Amino acid sequence: MNLNAEQTAAAHYTGPARHLLILAGAGTGKTRTIIGRILYLIRSGVPAERLLMLTFTRRAAKEMLARLNHEVGGVSEKITAGTFHHFCLQVMRRIPKAFGVEDRNVIDRDDAESLIQLLRGELLKKGEKKDFPKGAALLNTISYAKNFCLALPDYLNRFTEYDETTMERIIQIATQYEQRKTERHYLDYDDILHLFVQGLENNDKLRERIAGLYQHILVDEMQDTNPLQWRILAALSSTQSDSGAQLFCVGDDAQSIYAFRGADFRNVHEFESRVHNSTTLKLQENYRSTQEILDIANWLLKQSPLQYDKELHAHRGRGLKPRLIDFESKFDEADWIATDLQQRHDNGARWSEHMVLVRSGWAAKTLEGALIDRQIPYKFVGGTSLLEAAHVKDLLSLCRAALSAYDELAWIRYLKCWPKIGDATAAKVVQGLLQLQPADNPLDALADLLPRRDDVRQGIAVIQQYRGEPHTALKMGTEHLTKALSQRYDRWESRAADLRLLASLAHRYKDLLGFVEAYTLDPVSNSEAEQSEQEDTLTLITVHSAKGTEAPVCYCLGVQPGVYPHLRSLGDKDAEEEERRVLYVALTRAQNELIITRAGDDNRTLFHGGSFVHAQGSPYFLEYLPGPLVEYEHHGYGQAMAGGSVLDELLDFD
Ligand code: ATP
Ligand code: MG
Repeated sequence: MNLNAEQTAAAHYTGPARHLLILAGAGTGKTRTIIGRILYLIRSGVPAERLLMLTFTRRAAKEMLARLNHEVGGVSEKITAGTFHHFCLQVMRRIPKAFGVEDRNVIDRDDAESLIQLLRGELLKKGEKKDFPKGAALLNTISYAKNFCLALPDYLNRFTEYDETTMERIIQIATQYEQRKTERHYLDYDDILHLFVQGLENNDKLRERIAGLYQHILVDEMQDTNPLQWRILAALSSTQSDSGAQLFCVGDDAQSIYAFRGADFRNVHEFESRVHNSTTLKLQENYRSTQEILDIANWLLKQSPLQYDKELHAHRGRGLKPRLIDFESKFDEADWIATDLQQRHDNGARWSEHMVLVRSGWAAKTLEGALIDRQIPYKFVGGTSLLEAAHVKDLLSLCRAALSAYDELAWIRYLKCWPKIGDATAAKVVQGLLQLQPADNPLDALADLLPRRDDVRQGIAVIQQYRGEPHTALKMGTEHLTKALSQRYDRWESRAADLRLLASLAHRYKDLLGFVEAYTLDPVSNSEAEQSEQEDTLTLITVHSAKGTEAPVCYCLGVQPGVYPHLRSLGDKDAEEEERRVLYVALTRAQNELIITRAGDDNRTLFHGGSFVHAQGSPYFLEYLPGPLVEYEHHGYGQAMAGGSVLDELLDFD
């Protein structure tokens, strides 16, 4: 594996400092240098099992191990590698008693949220519920406080603007949440880190024993470690003395994008003062991208009031200018991207050479519709894909049920959307429906099978009535299900927006069956894509999940005012600045081609006479982007939607 002189100096470092920080910009080979370091250590005789490699995602760890395996073969399997959570859990599972976690089962984020939602329902009085933060927000608050290593009341006072009564209630719910978890033997994700730290800090023998397992700890994406993770590193490496493991951390302060979860800048900025006997090395040259792509990233950082002191130079030299393309609507934007991808694929490119970066799962959804329409295989990393969202499946199950009395799975799902219908009733109804003749209408059978449930029948009836107008069918179906589903799911407003989007995607279909087939035969679902990573798929990814990744062609979608910086961050200077770094991470993923797109129909912006009009005075990172840095294009309404299908000519065939 090739390393340049600076990378080699880091990877082969032998002293005098015990601990190293490699602080360098995007694409300069930080991750590659960690791999180089591990190879160097193994080749100099350090047993692979004495190495601990901590990464931000398990996917990253897997990729790095595969790389190591390629270089040194089977020994690489002896390295302990994974995320902080994964590592801590592995240790605690070996010696649960030492951490007081015998018989405790890990619950995932969804379970934790349901538990909080339950307690919220129990503890709040009737009148209080309406405006009180919901399960997800409550869980975030409790989780952030833990990751910041702050007591909940301190966290609430410092970082939130809730009134006194709300704070008291939140504290009450949090206390109950802790108690319930203990009673039910649950561990949530934060408990894993928290109990691990407590175990180490309160028991010297335990700490020494675990620290003694490793000679070197290597940490990627150090800028995003939080105070809790920091304490783990400190405990294992004895940062204040010359015993324990040696740290080899790499990071980029300009890519720190997890402050909201407690990521602490100071872990890199103050590394040398926090870690006894340490030093910092730099890498200067970017190997990922061409200079034109780096120019725009460099320009973005230079606009910041902070001194990032980062000017990336492309080892690869010059290439294509990034494109900046404006669209009147997000449907045009999505359509254009899908068409462009299709053309590249037709010309011989692999899907996997392309990556689409989005700010949020929500921003991805219109594009998902366009990808599904064209049967472009994709995997969505970092969010729930449109077709996997529970409420979307509910609505589709209603459509499928209305189209076929025999679609057992759809019927069960649809029936169970309704209050007071459980497995037993659903199974009974399905049995009854399966007896029908193809010409029978399930509506008549339903009247017998569920005599008192007009609500359930009406849902089916309305879809059947509008099966020739899929858009209306979905709209009416949504209306019918809203009462039942809104009681079932939190954040109903954003879920309802997904269903509206689904209805608008249905506009293009001539009948409901065509739509349902396109949308239930999802080309490649997330899990399948994960199973066969060799499979050629496009990657659709949230910027927060995209750290460390790269692709030859990258589309950054929805880069309009109100998104960068995100409206939510406005007014909070630190949060706004973090948004700049999010955009920086996004732009620096591209190797050969960077395509930045914006849509003018976002409800926060207006597209007028070829430029964006947005709230006066609110910041927008690309507002003063110098023209020469990009090739600018503007695609007017409807251009990207041109063309129908020749198959439509068959429609009048009897
Ligand atoms: P990020 O900041 O995004 O995490 P990074 O600093 O970790 O990036 P890498 O992912 O290690 O950078 O490297 C970026 C790209 O440059 C990779 O494709 C890598 O293989 C390539 N690269 C890095 N160093 C060299 C080198 N010395 N010779 C050839 N290619 C290199
Ligand atoms: Mg990296």
